[in-house]
Amino acid sequence: MKKIPFVDLHQQYLTIKTEIDNSIQNTIRKTSFIGGDDVSLFEKNFAEKLDIKNCISVANGTDSLYIIQKMLGIGEGDEVITSAYSWISSSETISQTGAKPIFIDIDEFYTIDANKIEKAITKKTKAIIIVHIHGQSCDIEKITALCKSYNLFLIEDCAQSHLTEYNNKYVGTFGDAASFSFYPGKNLGAYGDAGAIICNSDELANKFKMYARHGALKKHEHQIEGINSRLDGIQAGILNVKLKYLTEWTNKRRQVAELYLQNLSGVEEIKLPLVRPNTKHSFHLFVIRCKNRDELMKSLKNKGIETAIHYPHALPSLKAYEYLNLEKSQFVNAIGQESELLSLPIFPELTEYEILTVCDEIKKFYL
Ligand SMILES: *Cc1c(COP(=O)(O)O)cnc(C)c1O
Repeated sequence: MKKIPFVDLHQQYLTIKTEIDNSIQNTIRKTSFIGGDDVSLFEKNFAEKLDIKNCISVANGTDSLYIIQKMLGIGEGDEVITSAYSWISSSETISQTGAKPIFIDIDEFYTIDANKIEKAITKKTKAIIIVHIHGQSCDIEKITALCKSYNLFLIEDCAQSHLTEYNNKYVGTFGDAASFSFYPGKNLGAYGDAGAIICNSDELANKFKMYARHGALKKHEHQIEGINSRLDGIQAGILNVKLKYLTEWTNKRRQVAELYLQNLSGVEEIKLPLVRPNTKHSFHLFVIRCKNRDELMKSLKNKGIETAIHYPHALPSLKAYEYLNLEKSQFVNAIGQESELLSLPIFPELTEYEILTVCDEIKKFYL
């Protein structure tokens, strides 16, 4: 039987091979390896696509979170609230600024439980980093209201949620600034590391840009010490090509998800992902909760179906956060699901036949 991979970036490349190859060749011909037209064009294109004023490209989606916090003035003595269930970048970058990450358990949508945030706000709280995980939107209405009444910055981690919509508006446009990753496997992925920050404020945009470019907006005019965080020319060219297909690819992901939802709906041993009301989920991941997860994973692997676990450990369970002495009972949802999570194959090129095969094999396992 033909294998069903978890993702297949080479298959996607083949559908746009000529454009990608030309773009890479052009960058080499122009020797615009760092900076140049393609980088500024991508910043313009991405901002236009999301209907926001500014886009600042950076080296990856971890730098973007760090730069945002640093330029919002977050540092030593501050607290930043974030979700207990995410990739470590969303909390790691809080610590990098010198501030303390405050974890909040998740709701039934895998996103930060908005009802538990208020209790965690202290005099030291400066910001909330929400993570639109799997492509799901957080409870933006409740969270923006909280940020307003407590005067907190709202930072959106959109590494997994390119083109996710909430109330007909793209996520990433609700807070003070948002962070995107273009890691190859993300919904918009480069062929290496890449990331971006978006925001409406010109003042903040200038700060982000300056900090990412060694503290200088003009060459050799360093206003402050910054860092070196750049999107390179080859990646920008590739992203410009791929951005044109993002809407189509996102809709295909939604179709894949719809087929999974239809065909797995009766299986008692499985909890299917819910979609928050007023949300257009972008399904970066299709995560189910299931009984006998490890056996199911092994059985699917034997049938040539590749699955993954996002993530085996909630952030408060990681050794990296032992020093915080967290009360594990505060994270019943995030920690309680650790042994049940399974991510099914999802990418735009997945065929209906492949999706139905995955569903059939899951059903057979539980028979
Ligand atoms: C991928 C990811 C990041 C980090 O992106 P990189 O480009 O790999 O640094 C941050 N947050 C979340 C939720 C992610 O999934």
